[in-house]
Amino acid sequence: MSPGSAGFAYYPDNGLDIDISSDVFIDEGYGRNQHILLNEISHALGLKHSFEGMTTLVTDLDSFSNTVMSYTSGGSAGDVLGLLDLNAIRYLYRARLPRGGRSPAGTGTRPA
Ligand SMILES: [Zn+2]
Repeated sequence: MSPGSAGFAYYPDNGLDIDISSDVFIDEGYGRNQHILLNEISHALGLKHSFEGMTTLVTDLDSFSNTVMSYTSGGSAGDVLGLLDLNAIRYLYRARLPRGGRSPAGTGTRPA
């Protein structure tokens, strides 16, 4: 983990030969920071920052109230997953839910 970083996580399919897929590292000073934990766990599930890469959120949506993957608070603590996080995780893992299972956020979404 680079100095000054609160946390770090590997994506599920990171292309590295060693088995560190989805491993999460949190600086001991941030172990109780719900936003940092959710951000890094979301990386481990496959989500990227909302402002990085070729596809980004429009500025009006890029805030903690919509996604923990933002760096803009927008008045929210970012200590719960946003609707965009939930939808992205549902999209990535929906087919993997067990019969009668619940979504990762426990919102009761049934598998297709
Ligand atoms: Zn992050």
